[in-house]
Amino acid sequence: MSESRTPGSLTPEQVRQYASQLGNQSFWAGMLNGSINFNASYGNTTYSDDVGTHDISTPYNVNIYGGAGFIGPQNSQPDITGIRNGLKEALKRWECRELMQNLLDAVRSKKNPVAKSGVIMDLFEAVVSQGGITRTPPPGSAGYGNPTGKIKNNNAAIFSAVKFKDPSLQLLADIHTTLHELLHLAGYNRYYTDEEFARAVYNNQEYHSRSPYPPYEPALHKELKDPGALGWGAYWNDVLMQKCFQ
Ligand SMILES: [Zn+2]
Repeated sequence: MSESRTPGSLTPEQVRQYASQLGNQSFWAGMLNGSINFNASYGNTTYSDDVGTHDISTPYNVNIYGGAGFIGPQNSQPDITGIRNGLKEALKRWECRELMQNLLDAVRSKKNPVAKSGVIMDLFEAVVSQGGITRTPPPGSAGYGNPTGKIKNNNAAIFSAVKFKDPSLQLLADIHTTLHELLHLAGYNRYYTDEEFARAVYNNQEYHSRSPYPPYEPALHKELKDPGALGWGAYWNDVLMQKCFQ
């Protein structure tokens, strides 16, 4: 299959809904040619993970490089050097740096200032030297990505799930997940939440997420009370993808 480089977009719910088909070439071909219609982005499946530590970040922004093999059984270790280089590359984009600044300026407070002055690469190196980037999901994880620990406690880590068989695609997923989770970990005393970042994005005219705001669908009403809820994460992560990776 030829490399099409068509950016696709799957919500976590969709990833779950279509999980059994994600390994089929025809599924991906259908996505690329538009014959698969996802319609509403959310609410097709029941979301029941109400543990505060859950998080999501990349599966709904899967870049489809022509029939990629999705979700491999391998437990490949994260490529730290590759992730570091990927983050540096993303941060060469002024609009990505501006987004980091805007997000952190919107959520920082006296009670919860930014760790490492909000310097992304410093946050990254702190995580690498503390808990690292791990394939082991913390308890309550929705299975995509989570921050764990805290920079100030010297135990910050990031869980990034294996999503692809193809190492280059997995590296991209790890880079996306890492940047997203670093922003949570930037909260010195407590994680900055997905809801806080979603509101920051929503309140900035410059940004246009392709996810609904707020995610109105009934299935998500209850979980919206959770500031780490999927809908909030999806909302701001879409802008993160636009400004830093697409
Ligand atoms: Zn998040």
